[in-house]
Amino acid sequence: MAKPQYRRVLLKLSGEVLMGDQQFGIDPAFVAEMAKEVAAIRDSGVEVCMVIGGGNIFRGMAGAAKGMDRAQADYMGMLATVMNALAMQNALEQLGVPTRVQSAIEMDKVCEPVIRRRAERHLEKGRIVIFAAGVGAPYFTTDSGAALRAAEMKCDALFKGTSVDGVYNADPKKDPAAKRYDTIDYDTVLADNLKVMDASAVALCRDNKIPIVVFSIRERGNMARVLSGEGTKTVVC
Ligand code: UDP
Repeated sequence: MAKPQYRRVLLKLSGEVLMGDQQFGIDPAFVAEMAKEVAAIRDSGVEVCMVIGGGNIFRGMAGAAKGMDRAQADYMGMLATVMNALAMQNALEQLGVPTRVQSAIEMDKVCEPVIRRRAERHLEKGRIVIFAAGVGAPYFTTDSGAALRAAEMKCDALFKGTSVDGVYNADPKKDPAAKRYDTIDYDTVLADNLKVMDASAVALCRDNKIPIVVFSIRERGNMARVLSGEGTKTVVC
């Protein structure tokens, strides 16, 4: 792997990444594949914070659309992110990578609470820290959680792994003429309502000057390439 350009990063994966080819839930074989890519980054000397969504299990909006109280449904979504974090921790530790989960909703039987100074210490010791339960409040998403943790942990960049290889001016799955941006500024993303991350997450990154690197997790090895400044991606900055 080429030399990484970053000292510390926040890696955001949506929950759907853990489903593999399934329609729902967690595919341990697929989580193991993802974990190998994350471990390779850590082995190259980059300090890695992670946030994993919960959309493979439950999204608050989906529950609310079927008549549930939105806040109640959002808390269920946050719990889903803790399950995903534990699955990733398991896969990373099976590769010999020490990993800690810190949850914004305290549950001390299964993981630590979010304590910034403790997370710092974990990173110094070469551990990966997975931040679960988003910001710990309903009406937010794990994108906002990722932006918040990237800011408080002083990450050099927020890497957002998705099913597409960057930000396009139209949906590339529907429009073959859609063009990918190499770089784009935060304000254009917000003004044009481009689906990078939710608006509060983009604004938080903008205000704290954290570049958002959007890349595809579908190609094997792409994560490491993008971390070393190569590979296909869009940088929001
Ligand atoms: N959620 C929340 N507050 C947060 C983070 C997440 O209420 O700070 C809930 C929300 O219902 C969300 C669900 O958890 O839909 C799962 O997170 P998200 O949709 O961000 O997951 P992803 O789309 O990345 O898989």
